[in-house]
Amino acid sequence: MAEAYPVEPEKRDAWILGLRRGVPRATLDPRRVSAWIPENEPDDHGRIHSGLALFLTNRECPWRCLMCDLWRHTLSVRVRAGDLPAQIDQALNESRLAGHSPDWIKLYNAGSFFDPGAVPVGDRSSIARQVQGFRRVILENHPALTDGRVLPFRDQLGGAQLEVAIGLETAHPMVLERLNKRVGLDDFRRAVGFLREKEIDVRAFVLVKPPFLDESEALDWACRSIDFAFDCGVNVVSLIATRAGNGALEELARQGEFSPPRFETLVSAFRHGVEAKRGRVFVDLWQLEQAIANPEVIQGARSHLEMVNRSQRWPAEGV
Ligand code: SF4
Repeated sequence: MAEAYPVEPEKRDAWILGLRRGVPRATLDPRRVSAWIPENEPDDHGRIHSGLALFLTNRECPWRCLMCDLWRHTLSVRVRAGDLPAQIDQALNESRLAGHSPDWIKLYNAGSFFDPGAVPVGDRSSIARQVQGFRRVILENHPALTDGRVLPFRDQLGGAQLEVAIGLETAHPMVLERLNKRVGLDDFRRAVGFLREKEIDVRAFVLVKPPFLDESEALDWACRSIDFAFDCGVNVVSLIATRAGNGALEELARQGEFSPPRFETLVSAFRHGVEAKRGRVFVDLWQLEQAIANPEVIQGARSHLEMVNRSQRWPAEGV
C-alpha cells in the first residue's frame, strides 16, 4: 500500500503520478481523433439536436487531478501545428460517410482547448473555420485559462454558439481542494461569470461521489454542486459517476478513502437536478457500468436514463 494521500499540495502530483505504474496508456496517432461518436441532446427549448463528439488526440493535460484518467488517451508530446485540423477533417469526413449530419459539435481534447501547449494558438483560426457550419460548438477548458483568450475564437465562429465545459467537480470546498485541480469555488464562479457576460454558454461537469465522501454525503454534495453550478450561471450540468482506472483511485479505495457511487445515488442526484428545472441536467452514460458499485441494476434502467437525458422530465413511474 502507498503512503496516505499527502496533506501538502506540493507533494500530491508525485503521489498521483507514482500510482500510474501498470495503468495502460493508449497508442494514438496525432493525425487521427481518439474517437468520435454521434449523440443527441436537447437544447433549452426541448428541441433535440444531433451532435458529434470528437475526442481529439492531444498531449496530456498539465494539471494532475486526483481522479482524472483522461491522460490514458493522450500523447506524451505536443501535437504539431496542423495535426488537430487534420483530426477534425478526418472525423467530419468519416461521420459524413456514415450518414450523420450533426448541427452541434464537441471538441474535447482531454484537457483545455485554450491551453497553448495543447491546441497550438495558430490552429485556432483554422479550427474555427472548420466548425463554422455548426450551430453550437462545445469545448472544455480549465477556469485558470478562461479569460480574454476565448474571445477571438468566439468571434471567428460565424454565428455558431460557443459553449465552454468546465469541471466544477464538486462544490465541497475541502474535497475540491484535495482533488488537486488547483481551483477553488471562486475561480469557478469567476470563469462562469466571465463567459456568460460574453454570451458564451457554460456546461459544468459534476462528479458523483468523488473520494473522501461516504454515500449519503456524496448525494448531498452532488445536489449542492448542481445547485451551486446553476447559482453561478451555468446552462447545463453533466453528472459523472466517479470512476476508478487511473491508479490513484484504486489506491484510495485500498485505503478506504474512495468507493464507487451506487446507482441509486447517481439517480437521486440526477432527479434532484432535473426536477429543479434550473437548466439542463444530463447523466454521462459513457462506461457507466464500469463506474458504479452495483452495475447489475443498470441494464433495465439505461434506456430510462437516456429518455430523461432527452426529455428533461422525470417519469412518474421513476427510473
Ligand atoms: S484539468 Fe481536467 S483534464 Fe486536466 S487533469 Fe484535471 S480533470 Fe483531467
